[in-house]
Amino acid sequence: MKVPLTIGDYLSRGAEVYGHRPAVFDEPAVGGSLGTLSYAELESRARGMALALDAMGVGQGERVAIVSPNAAKFVISYFGVSAYGRVLVPVNYRLNADEIGYIVAHSGTSVLLVDPESADSLRGISPKYKIILDGIADAELFAPAPDGAQPTEWVADEDETASINYTSGTTARPKGVQLTHRNLWLNAAIFGWHTTVTDRDVFMHTLPMFHCNGWGMPYAVTGMGVPQVVVRKIDGEEILRRIEAHGVTLLCGAPAVVAAILAAAADRRSAGRAVPGAGTVRMVVAGAPPPSKTIERVETELGWEFIQIYGLTETAPLLTINRAVPEWDEMPAAERARLQSRAGVGAIGVQIRTDEEGEVLARSNHVFAGYWEQPEESAKALAGGWFHTGDGGHVDAENYLVISDRKKDVIISGGENVSSIEVEDCLYQHPAVAEAAVIGVPDDKWGETVKALVVLRTADGATEAELIEHCRARLAHFKCPTSVEVRDSLARTATGKLQKFKLREPYWAGRGRNIN
Ligand code: AMP
Repeated sequence: MKVPLTIGDYLSRGAEVYGHRPAVFDEPAVGGSLGTLSYAELESRARGMALALDAMGVGQGERVAIVSPNAAKFVISYFGVSAYGRVLVPVNYRLNADEIGYIVAHSGTSVLLVDPESADSLRGISPKYKIILDGIADAELFAPAPDGAQPTEWVADEDETASINYTSGTTARPKGVQLTHRNLWLNAAIFGWHTTVTDRDVFMHTLPMFHCNGWGMPYAVTGMGVPQVVVRKIDGEEILRRIEAHGVTLLCGAPAVVAAILAAAADRRSAGRAVPGAGTVRMVVAGAPPPSKTIERVETELGWEFIQIYGLTETAPLLTINRAVPEWDEMPAAERARLQSRAGVGAIGVQIRTDEEGEVLARSNHVFAGYWEQPEESAKALAGGWFHTGDGGHVDAENYLVISDRKKDVIISGGENVSSIEVEDCLYQHPAVAEAAVIGVPDDKWGETVKALVVLRTADGATEAELIEHCRARLAHFKCPTSVEVRDSLARTATGKLQKFKLREPYWAGRGRNIN
């Protein structure tokens, strides 16, 4: 028998087995907050959403985009859209109107859901339907389904696209990563297994839900009836407070989130206050290689378990996992942290190797179907039956993958990708700029930060502040250079290509790796 793997399976089980349990504690103090929803209510509202989309004439296969920080409505949309045959397009709410307008147009979105805080700036974007998530305009969309009401039946196909996740990469505009039901289902199952998600867990959404669907953990925890605490904005002390209040046992985040938590915990300790979660919390980290000192501090200062994973939006994302094995139990914390700073070993069903240039290649059922309407880019990424990650590294003697470099022209700041080409394009629009190279340089808070090296047309053409301001007016702020250096010329190859590795070298000297 072959039963299609569809993402709705996770919600059906959560609701059938754990109907009366709290499913989602929504962010309390925001307009349109749904308060606490049980698993039965979560299922009913997801079904209600599908019924409302039916009533609006939004057909199966059509795209529904959401621009919102973490919210219960986002969790409902994972299922209310994808589980009934439509395609969810989760969009980074920090992008500006031009960038979001591009994604909405490129994905052919017919319904756009917008958090009230973004409503003004997205005024000019008008797909067929635009609904503000203010609790009034969206009241029908997020209402529970009437008893027994069933949306139009979807003849489920596990190879259909469940979500399109736009990600910045090697092209000036983001590409739409098509993740199928099968990709998401298997990623969630394997991720949940390797991190031992059980029905005794309590999960906290410290990872943006738009980022690779919160890495797939929302599906995994829903299937196990795990209560989920929504966090709209990262604040270390608030995270600790909610861990205490809700008995949270599991959270995911980029290294910058870990840094915020460690700082808040240090403040608590100096004020003589307890830090919650010792021996009970596990924190899953990815997005950048965390410094081993940070890993050690999670263990020694918080008493939490640290788990690293590595992957990309294109791989749903789980490729490798590094979770301390019992063989390391007796080691000093610093040594264990050093071993845990590696990206990890292949998850079940994932094959990893590196090619002769050191690029990491992967094969797995989590690897995406292709980029939405970009067949050439898809073919390039999947050439030879392996997915080309654009990351550089090696597999060590214990079969652990170590990521040490990036082949692709991408900067990762605070866990989010920035395309250097996009920022260079923007700088070239300034009349004073003759040449521009954008690189990532180490930064204590964000891991990496964006730096621009420019050659000006005339010596007094523009100041650093003017060029930064020029970018801030045109790009999402997290993508903008935080420093600009004026050069007489930029290192290039004989064929005129920028030698980024040479330009980056001085900033990364003595670090043993070229990424953070
Ligand atoms: P995204 O598609 O936005 O999730 O970004 C994926 C990229 O993040 C990868 O290609 C890597 O460059 C980086 N990345 C993710 N996890 C790790 C990790 N554990 N160590 C090093 N780099 C990572």
